[in-house]
Formats: sequence, structure tokens, C-alpha cells
Amino acid sequence: MLPLTAAADVRVLTSIKPLALIAREVVGDKASVETLLPVKASPHDYPLRVSDIRRLQQADLVLWVGPNLEAFLQRPLNNIASEKRVAVYDIPGMYWPEEEPHSSPGEASHQHHGHDPHVWLDPRNAIVIAQALAKKLSEIDPASSAFYTNNARNFSVAAMELDRQLMTALAPARDKGFAVYHEGYLHFVKRYELQQLAYVTFTPERRPGAKHLYELRNKLNGRAACLFTEPYYDVSIAMDLAQELNLKVAILDPIGEEQVTSYKELLEKMAQTFLACLTNRSVTGEV
Ligand SMILES: [Zn+2]
Repeated sequence: MLPLTAAADVRVLTSIKPLALIAREVVGDKASVETLLPVKASPHDYPLRVSDIRRLQQADLVLWVGPNLEAFLQRPLNNIASEKRVAVYDIPGMYWPEEEPHSSPGEASHQHHGHDPHVWLDPRNAIVIAQALAKKLSEIDPASSAFYTNNARNFSVAAMELDRQLMTALAPARDKGFAVYHEGYLHFVKRYELQQLAYVTFTPERRPGAKHLYELRNKLNGRAACLFTEPYYDVSIAMDLAQELNLKVAILDPIGEEQVTSYKELLEKMAQTFLACLTNRSVTGEV
């Protein structure tokens, strides 16, 4: 039998895995952290099941990015008390990269409000999220307040160190142009001053139109070294383009597959993918 003291009383439910990785650092063994979406599911477009609604209702705290990413959660979360949910998008102090205006017609209809919602790809945002979560958990579970606050502080120190490491490690990749599969990496790209020239599609479910593909070819031709695709989507259009323009191809995973067990690992893996494709180096320094 497990000792009673190890029982997790507070139940935290996050929409996607990256938020769960951050939350686990804060809650330690004082709370359980579960993720609503399977890692292979797209947070841009997920069909909620009845059992998912039940999980949302049973959680003590739901942590999600916001309607700009997980539009499908907006309505179900309206039925949940406001003190039991935190939208990362609304946390004061979040960092937002400057975005270029989207030129293709129709893209303005996307609810991005000029902000890339993949906020967790900037470690400074992970810190803001961890600290907001510690504050929220302290309200729900005041007896463990010091524990949550201390964990958030430790995570913040580690995330700042990670940020510094990535800044140094990615420096050799800064002058190499590339394209990403969908417009989901600006928080990482802008933070580490990488040269993203274009995206293949704005959101992963949308197939790029002929005009966008034409412009994409022109932007990349002779300037890009790599094209980054993603797992779990049909990226055949991107693969054809890479072959046509003779670009190296690598796979970026913004959510983190099963093997990824920490926030640090998620970002290190992403940095490694950028660095290996753009420069043939590795984050640890050896070529
Ligand atoms: Zn995305």
C-alpha cells in the first residue's frame, strides 16, 4: 500500500503535453497532472469526446493555452467555474514575438489576433506559466503553498539556464534560412534569432493554396537550407517542395512525443533539430 501522504489530492488537467511538463515541475507529488489531448492529436482541431468533458469537469484546475489555439475548449470551459481554469494566453507578463503580417487572403479570419499561440516554445514564457500556476495552486491548496512556490522558483532558475544554453548553442545557425511546416515556431525562432523565411501552411490542417506555394518557392529558392516538417500530418506537399528546391528535411515536434519527459528535453530536442539540419552540429558542441 502507498502511504497516505503520497496521495495526490489536487487534480490538474492540461490541454496539451507541453503545459503538463511545466505543471509537473510545479506540483511535484502534491497533485496529479494529466493531459487531455493525446500527443498525436492536433491542438488546433480536436474532436472532444464525452469522456473528455467529464475529465474537464472533474479537474480541480484546467490549464490551457486559450481559444487562439484550442478553440474547441472554449465552449466546454465556459461551463466550468472561472477559478478552476487558467488560460495561459491571459497571464500577465507573457512574451510575444513580433509577427509579420499575413499576406494571403483568408488568413486574417484565423483567431490568432496577431499572436502565435505556441507560447511554451519560449522558456521565459514557461517561467511565467510556472509562477502563475504556483500562485493558483496556492489558492486551491494553501497548506502546500510554500512547496509550489519553491518548485516554481527552482524551475525558473533551470529554465533561465536552459535559455542561456540554447542562445549560445543556436548561434551558429543564425544565418541559415529555412521554412517550417506550420506557423507555430515564432516564439522559438524570434527568441533565438533564427532565420525563418516562410511557412508551408498557417495551421497544420489547412492545405496551402497555389498562390501561397508559388510565393513560398520564390522565398526559399536559393536562400533556404532546410525545410522542417512535423510528425502526424500529411506533409507530402512540403516533401515535394523540399525535393524540388533541394532542401534538407528534418522533423520538428512542438508537442513532444512519448519519449519526451521534461520541458528541458522538449526544447533541447527542438534546438538540436534546428542545429543539426542547419549546421550539422549538435547542441553539446561536437560536429
Ligand atoms: Zn500549432
